[in-house]
Amino acid sequence: MNLWTFRIPTAVTFGEGAIRDLPRIAATLGQRPLLVADRDLVRLPLWARIQEILPGTPVFAEVTPDPTVGSVDALAAVVRDQRHDVAIAVGGGSAMDCAKAAACLAAGDLPSIRAVHSGGAPLGSARVPLIAVPTTAGTGSEVTPFAVLNDPETQRKGPIAGDALYPVHAVVDPKLTYSLPRKVSVVTGLDALSHAIEGYWSRGHQPLCDLLAVEAARLICRHLRQAAKQPDDARARAAMSYAATLAGAAFQLPKNAMVHACSFPLSTRYHLPHGVACAFTLEEAIRFNAPVMGPRMTDFLRGIGLEDAEELIALVRELKQLGGLPCTLREAGIPPEVIPQLARESFHPLMNNNPRPMTESDLVAMYQRLA
Ligand code: ZN
Repeated sequence: MNLWTFRIPTAVTFGEGAIRDLPRIAATLGQRPLLVADRDLVRLPLWARIQEILPGTPVFAEVTPDPTVGSVDALAAVVRDQRHDVAIAVGGGSAMDCAKAAACLAAGDLPSIRAVHSGGAPLGSARVPLIAVPTTAGTGSEVTPFAVLNDPETQRKGPIAGDALYPVHAVVDPKLTYSLPRKVSVVTGLDALSHAIEGYWSRGHQPLCDLLAVEAARLICRHLRQAAKQPDDARARAAMSYAATLAGAAFQLPKNAMVHACSFPLSTRYHLPHGVACAFTLEEAIRFNAPVMGPRMTDFLRGIGLEDAEELIALVRELKQLGGLPCTLREAGIPPEVIPQLARESFHPLMNNNPRPMTESDLVAMYQRLA
């Protein structure tokens, strides 16, 4: 067994009603909290519950889906100018990633997060403490040191990484996910499944992350269908919220691989939401990687209660159809002429974590099968 180090520096509070603990947790970190949410969230009934729990707390609600470097810079300016000393990010990956990056930017010396995102500047270790409150069961961003940002000016979409991006505390309350529409439940759930699978098969895999990955994938395979069909099924929702956080903890050290590498051009150029872009190549990735995984794949499949890789592929396909996700380039509105370009642009460094080396011609062949 190779040398490995496991850690998860984020405290996690989990359970139905966990958000009631937010005022106490926030008070241990600072005196001037700022709530951060995306634009759509503040129109939902669950936002009223957040405001009841944190009455009078100022709100920044300008986060857009696929958060841009511009929104990170704007949020950091508010944090600096209003001298907020703790941020509470409520939402899916967009709100959490934007707030995580802004909390670092606000405490450091850089004028814009673009310097880190496309300039290669180090993120630094300073940060305003942040509490992450996920409202989807998907990204796992509440326990990871990554923030996926989009820069329309440079046409770059991809993660920034650094220890300062770990939230200080994650407050995971499954009740916040009850109002998710079916499609969002499936899309975010398949993102979490991608994290579990990729964390497990990454070249950087390690034993404790393997345990988390197998348990996360087992729960998702067992409960995602029901959570999508029956939104207020407390057992299925709790299992999914738990699984998404476990999956986040499972990939935060080994990191993702080809599914996420391929997702970036699909999102940047063709605006597929992150989970849709990951789910798009997931079956092909399982078919490509499973043969080289040997006993590790057998252990994984046994651990999640499935017979073979084909059964996992069939389940992913069924879930995609349940959520109305695109299964072909045509359904995704992507013309087949761009296949060579998609293949070229899929070589994000995460591709190097793939257990089976993937060439440009492998990618072209994959996208031709998906046409
Ligand atoms: Zn993801």
